[in-house]
Amino acid sequence: MFNKVLIANRGEIAVRIWRACQELGVKSVAVYSKADAGSRVVQLADEAICIGPAPAGRSYLNVPALIEAAHMTGADALHPGYGFLSEEPDFAEICAENNITFIGPSPDVMARVGDKALAKRVMKESGLPLVPGTEDTVDSLDDADDIAQQLGFPIILKAVAGGGGRGIAVVHNRDDLPRIYASTRATAQQLFKDSRVYLEKFIPIFRHTEVQILCDNYGHGIHLGERDCSVQRRRQKLIEEAPSIHLSPEQRAKMCDTAVAGALAAGYSSAGTVEFILDPNGNFYFMEINARIQVEHPVSEMISGVDLIKEQIRLASGQPLRYTQPDIQLRGHAFECRINAEDPDRDFEPDKRGKIEIFTPPLGPGTRVDTYVYSGWTVPPFYDSLVAKIIVWAEDRPSALDRMLRALNETTVEGISTTVPFHRRVFSHPEFRQGNVFTDFLVRHMNMASG
Ligand code: ADP
Ligand code: ADP
Ligand code: MG
Repeated sequence: MFNKVLIANRGEIAVRIWRACQELGVKSVAVYSKADAGSRVVQLADEAICIGPAPAGRSYLNVPALIEAAHMTGADALHPGYGFLSEEPDFAEICAENNITFIGPSPDVMARVGDKALAKRVMKESGLPLVPGTEDTVDSLDDADDIAQQLGFPIILKAVAGGGGRGIAVVHNRDDLPRIYASTRATAQQLFKDSRVYLEKFIPIFRHTEVQILCDNYGHGIHLGERDCSVQRRRQKLIEEAPSIHLSPEQRAKMCDTAVAGALAAGYSSAGTVEFILDPNGNFYFMEINARIQVEHPVSEMISGVDLIKEQIRLASGQPLRYTQPDIQLRGHAFECRINAEDPDRDFEPDKRGKIEIFTPPLGPGTRVDTYVYSGWTVPPFYDSLVAKIIVWAEDRPSALDRMLRALNETTVEGISTTVPFHRRVFSHPEFRQGNVFTDFLVRHMNMASG
């Protein structure tokens, strides 16, 4: 096991990683930008090092500062969390060169699955069904036009290096293709320093369904079932649940088993997520692999009893998987609501006031809150707006729905607007309660604009 883990992230996930380190008896180092000096993880970790000014480019993405912080404190491992450098194979490589174990898959596997077009080719070889489209990048407008004509509009253009729902655009008709092709490439270049795009048939109605996997360094892998993440706004998830109520036992076994087989064939190790499109007829298609822990990992933890972050740390230290598939008994139902510092009545505009006067999280049976904020904390405007995740577990879906509503009603946040009232509306909505949810739920049932 490691001696000391450097937590190369901020916010709620930094606290989550600290908790895992504590329980494993591993020391921890927090790193923080000047804007996060009063952050919860800074108070909790054994040591804390300031790595730069507020902008992420000069702090949480500042590779030399992170490596220096690890050397100064003698950290022998680094947990990247999600976002920031978590999916950068070059960073994982630099960690290795500096004798710091990067807690994640190996750099070459990260590169293979991080290229979303390449990942599709690799998964196809393992027999995973793909969304109709290209498994290669489209390198000219003429090629894009040819392929789009074959597939039929609408199509979706996706940045090979994309993530977080960005670098994706839908093209409804042929006339729009030149303009959207050019703008998507430009956006991809700007956001990901890689302008390459690929193209898929646009599937208008489906459920975003993803499988949580866990693999060791010795070619063994298991899954912890699936999550349904169909409540999305602008391709960003807002609510997740586990399990999906839209898979038969046979479909579930097929999706989960092919996810593990595909990941192992790609040489995957650590925790990861294989994302699928589940269409209304029950057909599913591989979408992408996220080679990191995900925001919504707690719902899988709640139904499986497995601590995913502790397992990531154990696996990275070279331990073999402690579970075989039959050891994993999924039980009950879990939901997660992402509480963002945004005003749902003003088109989810980020709240600029910042200061949380009062924060009283919900407690009680089956209720978990992953957060880094507290009364008096000012949410820095420099990073994403996630302030807390409310997670509930209950023996079945109807009870979990009631429990989440209760938890939301129990939550007090004063000083800033949050998405709590939005979540209350969704959890009260009859269609949501029935599970009649596809990725267009907010547009169809909540009078929200698409885009
Ligand atoms: P999840 O699948 O865990 O919900 P998201 O796709 O929402 O993950 O991304 C998790 C976090 O990482 C978000 O804060 C998102 O903005 C950020 N993120 C994801 N991919 C990238 C990327 N390629 N570049 C920058 N930020 C990213
Ligand atoms: P990211 O790396 O940003 O998470 P994904 O490839 O996972 O990108 O796609 C993000 C979201 O975009 C999906 O959850 C889904 O809502 C939507 N999406 C992706 N591919 C398609 C498609 N072929 N048709 C319709 N929607 C899609
Ligand atoms: Mg995705």
